[in-house]
Amino acid sequence: MEKVEKGELINSGKAKSLYKSSDPDFYIMHYRDDTSAFDGVKKESLEGKGKTNNKFNAFIMLILEKEGVATHFQKLLSDTESLVKKLDMVPVECVIRNVAAGGICRRLGLEEGLDLDPPTFEFFYKNDELHDPMINDYHIKCFGWASDEQIEEMKIKTFQVNDTLKRLFSEAGMILVDFKLEFGSFKGELLLGDEFTPDGCRVWDSETREKLDKDRFRQDLGNVVESYQTIAKKLGIN
Ligand code: ADP
Ligand code: UDP
Repeated sequence: MEKVEKGELINSGKAKSLYKSSDPDFYIMHYRDDTSAFDGVKKESLEGKGKTNNKFNAFIMLILEKEGVATHFQKLLSDTESLVKKLDMVPVECVIRNVAAGGICRRLGLEEGLDLDPPTFEFFYKNDELHDPMINDYHIKCFGWASDEQIEEMKIKTFQVNDTLKRLFSEAGMILVDFKLEFGSFKGELLLGDEFTPDGCRVWDSETREKLDKDRFRQDLGNVVESYQTIAKKLGIN
């Protein structure tokens, strides 16, 4: 591939911006320092988060790729930018939970920290105005967001990611509590898109159960980026 030139801004989300690249099959994903929670209501810029997450995501995507989960990630372009395949995104979030925290505690009245064995799988419709409502396979089919085959593939791949990353985090002294994935299609193939960073998962220290992820921002616990870097360091990302 020749040197990639940055083109026009396609979409600026809450934490990342997507730009066209000189190759029509690829986008440039820019990880910004912007951080948001509660569907964009709480916002802040956290210095160094973009750089930390860009590197973190690259590390995880390469591991997943090696484990047979095809992803949109192509290569790092700079401290805060990655080259990714241009996907036609499925507008749903795939969430696996190994331990109860966040939404499931509020919804089902569970105590935070309850082990979920086997892990649960949930689909949410990606729509901030509607507060990302929980949906099921039938909604996805009914509204044409994905085919039966893609729905099955999203579930299988999300569980595969869980198997790989649960082990990886555990071996590094951490508990992968839950995480969110997004998928999209590229020339007929369903690929893992978006990101896997501490912005989209919950990770606790195995011994102290200290929260190391975006809950530090949601709950005003402080040292957010430092904590993301702690996770990275434990995983051997430098
Ligand atoms: P949000 O949409 O939650 O505000 P971000 O700031 O993370 O999120 O923006 C990233 C946007 O880019 C999301 O809408 C996501 O679905 C989309 N996206 C992620 N990966 C790709 C890709 N490879 N191709 C096209 N769109 C993508
Ligand atoms: N998550 C995310 N983006 C969202 C919603 C959830 O990355 O728009 C992640 C979140 O960080 C957590 C997991 O998905 O790791 C499950 O989130 P939950 O449903 O508990 O949501 P909450 O309401 O607590 O954000």
